[in-house]
Amino acid sequence: MAGEGRDCGLCGMSVWDKADGWFDKWGFKCRNCQYAVNKRRVPASLCRDYKHEKAIPDTTLATKLGVKVHTLRKYIREGKVVGRRIPNGPYMILRKDNPNLSESLKTIVLSTIE
Ligand SMILES: [Zn+2]
Repeated sequence: MAGEGRDCGLCGMSVWDKADGWFDKWGFKCRNCQYAVNKRRVPASLCRDYKHEKAIPDTTLATKLGVKVHTLRKYIREGKVVGRRIPNGPYMILRKDNPNLSESLKTIVLSTIE
């Protein structure tokens, strides 16, 4: 299946190379995300959640918050934000894993503007 610049339904990465994209009942995914779903690292139900109602990749979230991915990952490592890692890819931050996400995010944003 040719990527042709399609966006992965999970991490949002554009896939150009023919060998790097997959199509199944969950829609289009990049190779990393396909692997992560197959290995059940992340639930397949997160696919095609383009409005990020269920989960958001840390890369996208960092952009939205105006902080560095590096900063956000520090909080993930410290357990302040719960992220599920896609091997070779971003962490998926699930709303259900983070009931107090908006509070945590406020802390992160405030910490970067001090
Ligand atoms: Zn992906």
